[in-house]
Amino acid sequence: MSIETGFGEKSSQVEALTVEQVAVSESGPAVASDARSSREAPAEGSSEKHYRRPILTLSSEELDQWLHSKGEPRFRLRQLLHWLYQQPVENFEQMSDIPKALRRELARAFRLWTTRVVEHVKADDGTEKLLVRLMDGETVECVLLRDDRGHRTACVSTQVGCAMGCKFCASGLGGFRRNLSAYEIVEQLLHLTRLLPQRERLTHIVVMGMGEPLTNLKNVLQALEAATSNNGLGISGRRVTISTVGIPPAIDRLAESRKPYHLAISLHAPNDELRTQIVPSNQKIGLKAILNAADRYFAKTGRRVTFEYVLLAGVNDRLEHAAALAELLKNRTALVNVIAYNPVPELPYQTPSPARVHRFVDKLREAGLNARVRFRKGLQIEAACGQLRRRVVAQTGSGNGGPIVGGEMSTSAPPAGPASPEASPPNQENKAAN
Ligand code: SF4
Repeated sequence: MSIETGFGEKSSQVEALTVEQVAVSESGPAVASDARSSREAPAEGSSEKHYRRPILTLSSEELDQWLHSKGEPRFRLRQLLHWLYQQPVENFEQMSDIPKALRRELARAFRLWTTRVVEHVKADDGTEKLLVRLMDGETVECVLLRDDRGHRTACVSTQVGCAMGCKFCASGLGGFRRNLSAYEIVEQLLHLTRLLPQRERLTHIVVMGMGEPLTNLKNVLQALEAATSNNGLGISGRRVTISTVGIPPAIDRLAESRKPYHLAISLHAPNDELRTQIVPSNQKIGLKAILNAADRYFAKTGRRVTFEYVLLAGVNDRLEHAAALAELLKNRTALVNVIAYNPVPELPYQTPSPARVHRFVDKLREAGLNARVRFRKGLQIEAACGQLRRRVVAQTGSGNGGPIVGGEMSTSAPPAGPASPEASPPNQENKAAN
């Protein structure tokens, strides 16, 4: 039986592997680089050199093989996949319809979680943000957004830190640390799933958290395979949005992948001079190349591109900026999301008044653009991407809380809780930037 969970990684040996074995297995670069960057602590009671492989790095085919080698019936795979993706539990012991002896074998062979939740904050509007610690002690944020249409949107990070250095962004302040592996991205989705009551599922994914996803495209696509597979989280690919500052070759690769994902490009300025000031990566690329790549994406996929424009008071929010933006995007099938900036304490940028935001959008509409204001959510919980992480780093004096010991979720992880009341329209701009 072969059910693809999306990771598609193959190795001939799926018993617990040493780090060295994982690094040289045929499982693909995501696993190899993980082994280098995220050495896990030895499992309790194991020899120094014995490491348990994260179970999410195994394809369903590999899991099936492993189960088969233990003499298990074919239906066991579906049970296991259910506990991994649909109803993620804290530890193997909680997989209640799996025989106890097998649960123990699984726990000996694999890590169920490589990450754990170290901070969990909630806003009155139902938005919840998690700070998740990785095996090497680094931390990333992910967010659950709720709306009154029943959308349950996960916003996930793809890197630790970010190399793009956008001037208004808390995530870029500490620079780039490393790419996340596919399973580290999927684990964020699973942590967010655990915040929902059992009758609810994640419905949408926005890849708008910390990091520039298109510079970690391979792992992002692997993670999204698991997220959209019916044997993974089962979220429709049409409900996935990948947000980028604009990396033309990677936009082309994304188009080539033939996936139904939405592309959102963060413009934030209508001309190169201003954009380079606030999005430094623009200097070497330029708006023309980015818009050409957006046009190719549309031509290849038929999917309308969204342009994000974060309004920074007194910087890019004048009517002349709106007019220039309308000119830049005219004759394109596009949607412009205008988002009022989420202020970050260390940074000098301010939020424009609501009247100014609406005036800007009205100007775009008058010029014939399809534009809308996106509301911000989670304002009480350091909603701008990277803020929670920066506060915790400041309080603890380090972004590195030390390696995670053991393979199951720590007790600091939030329990699956009741749904918070839903309030406002859907928001995918908790991060409000990339
Ligand atoms: S806005 Fe996005 S691309 Fe820019 S620094 Fe922040 S995380 Fe990176």
